[in-house]
Amino acid sequence: MRIGILSVQGAFLEHEAILKSLGAQCFQIRQKKDLADGPPDGLVLPGGESTVMHKLLLELELYEPLKEMLENGLPVLATCAGLILLARKKEDGGPVCFGTLPVTVRRNAYGRQLGSFRTEGDFKGIGPVPMTFIRAPLILRASPETEILAAIQRPEGEQIAAVRFGSQLAMSFHPELTDNPAVHAFFLDMIKKYQNR
Ligand code: GLN
Repeated sequence: MRIGILSVQGAFLEHEAILKSLGAQCFQIRQKKDLADGPPDGLVLPGGESTVMHKLLLELELYEPLKEMLENGLPVLATCAGLILLARKKEDGGPVCFGTLPVTVRRNAYGRQLGSFRTEGDFKGIGPVPMTFIRAPLILRASPETEILAAIQRPEGEQIAAVRFGSQLAMSFHPELTDNPAVHAFFLDMIKKYQNR
């Protein structure tokens, strides 16, 4: 299993470490030639700063080839800023990046001071997983075809934390910043099922 990890900014090394520990072969996507061998088996869009990543994707000419691969069904694991890159709509009306995931997101939804917290939540198909939120986006709305895999309880009510749409798996928290590899194992399993469909 060959996984390409977008590595222009943000928390990409942590994804690489976990995926390697699960036996996947990983490579970093930093420039166009890193995609010369064609689509990998799976893609990771990590957390970081979505506006910076979007800008770098365009400057480095990674945007077009990755968008085409995503539109052709390339399985993807997107965390935090990565989720924002996939989202079809941003509440603030800001520029949409790939737009392949039919959800609306609110950036930095948990305020500046209280922007980071840890909790535990039930992840469909896995069970309870630790969840680390860092200036996380909130999935405000998801299309009916989008499967909700995890939600958390907040004073404001129940909030969506993870979704799947086709072969796109996206979450507002950082599974790579915990020592629990279950979400990454779920992703690798999802790729296998996608390949054997
Ligand atoms: N606040 C960041 C953004 O809007 C996301 C934060 C993260 O990835 N930890 O892009």
